[in-house]
Amino acid sequence: MANQDEHFKKVIAHAKEYGYIVQSSEIYDGLSAVYDYSHNGVELKNNIREYWWKAMVQMNENIVGIDAAILMHPTTWKASGHVDAFNDPLIDNKDSKKRYRADVLIEDYAEKLLQKAQKEIDKASERFGASFDEEIYKSTNPRVSGYLTEKEQILSRMAKSLEKNDLSDVKELIIELGITCPVSGSKNWTDVKQFNLMFGTKLGADAETAMDLYLRPETAQGIFVNFLNVQKSGRMKIPFGIAQTGKAFRNEIVARQFIFRMREFEQMEMQFFIRPGEQMKWYETWKNKRLSWHLSLGLGKENYRFHKHEKLAHYADAASDIEFNFPFGFKELEGIHSRTDFDLSSHEKFSGKKLQYFDPELNESYVPYVIETSIGLDRMFLAVFSNSLVDEVLEDQSVRTVLKLPAVLAPVKAAVFPLIKKDGLPEIAHQIINELKLDFNTTYDDKDAIGRRYRRQDAAGTPFCITVDHQTLEDQTVTIRHRDTMEQKRISISEIKNIIFQEVSTSSWLRKME
Ligand code: ATP
Repeated sequence: MANQDEHFKKVIAHAKEYGYIVQSSEIYDGLSAVYDYSHNGVELKNNIREYWWKAMVQMNENIVGIDAAILMHPTTWKASGHVDAFNDPLIDNKDSKKRYRADVLIEDYAEKLLQKAQKEIDKASERFGASFDEEIYKSTNPRVSGYLTEKEQILSRMAKSLEKNDLSDVKELIIELGITCPVSGSKNWTDVKQFNLMFGTKLGADAETAMDLYLRPETAQGIFVNFLNVQKSGRMKIPFGIAQTGKAFRNEIVARQFIFRMREFEQMEMQFFIRPGEQMKWYETWKNKRLSWHLSLGLGKENYRFHKHEKLAHYADAASDIEFNFPFGFKELEGIHSRTDFDLSSHEKFSGKKLQYFDPELNESYVPYVIETSIGLDRMFLAVFSNSLVDEVLEDQSVRTVLKLPAVLAPVKAAVFPLIKKDGLPEIAHQIINELKLDFNTTYDDKDAIGRRYRRQDAAGTPFCITVDHQTLEDQTVTIRHRDTMEQKRISISEIKNIIFQEVSTSSWLRKME
């Protein structure tokens, strides 16, 4: 835990120092849970968005994109259920005056039981070696099965209570489990209350007639209200999908953990419209497709797991999260939801407009069912960034800090250095940049010794460094150094572009999804 905390602090400090992320309005002491992306951060964020967009829109003939407005007619949020049900259960500790999400306190308690069980399983697996059968051990070892059963019982009781809106039982559960406030250490809790997460705003200058609006809490509704427009203008046939990326806003009760939980964030969502009754098939398909997108980036298979929802949202008949091993443990990175026909049917009812599809094969009209994949761009950024930041101990025992970003996502693909600032070497370095910049982001650096320049680029995440020296003047060759292996090779200037391209091109990374 201490190591995890240390690593997380390092991630936050590194993000600021190397131009990735800073607190919003920092000169005014910042705004809680709102962040700005700096010069490298914006490039990484754009690259993640593009990698998602290409995998979803470019790679799938039956998926198209849109860009809907943030402000929507207020009835949208009545129809979607957000006005009545987009609540989080909150609880305050009377001693520390800190506010928590009651469901998160209980989930964290349950996660600790899972960790205890896992520890026993790992120990036993080490003891028994190849003959170890995890499933048998889980069901026969009383301690392990006890932990796992208790965890299931807690989560299922919480799910039922939340479903019935029985908030006094949610508080009762917190008391029974002896959950204490992490700040005051006390069990002096208030009652649990529901809190709506939408930000309100006004349209119009006149206070009397101004219309109450909401900043969208999810991008999905922009897709639902455009379902028929896209289906008709794109001549789309079911099954088909609509993808969108954009800002969403939630007045989160507990906005901590850096960019994991923000009040203004960006989502990348895709709604896949299907025939009623086919939802389980497509739900499994999209779970697998989305996991393979994540795995293609090479952050380590062991860092992902699925979590099936016990408590389903009002619109869903099945839901799973892809959880990632963040510096503070496994947490939701992406949701895959089977949303039934809830949203389209509800918009039909509230708008009085038909939102149906005529299926020529079945010769009938119906309201399509929907599978949704929804990922937070900022959370994905945190997953990539925190996983990539490593301190390597080298042979000479010195420590190298390196940001091993997947090369396809790296903000700058190559740094070009003249060995010294004279003899025509800077001019050649600039010529190389002028050629490379048509295809890639590059940077020029002539300060300090070469070793220090390499380290700066390692820490910033640049996959390639190219050094121009006196030999370049004679034979048109340069040294190219690889960030991860630190291997250096002498190559001809004319080969540079190709070598970089092979490693950073989206196509070579997307191919790994297959
Ligand atoms: P959580 O349980 O963490 O609050 P959620 O289940 O409410 O998340 P969804 O409504 O399913 O999240 O949103 C889809 C995705 O949007 C999430 O998987 C997450 O990546 C991202 N997301 C949601 N809320 C936030 C937030 N406050 N800050 C950053 N990303 C968010």
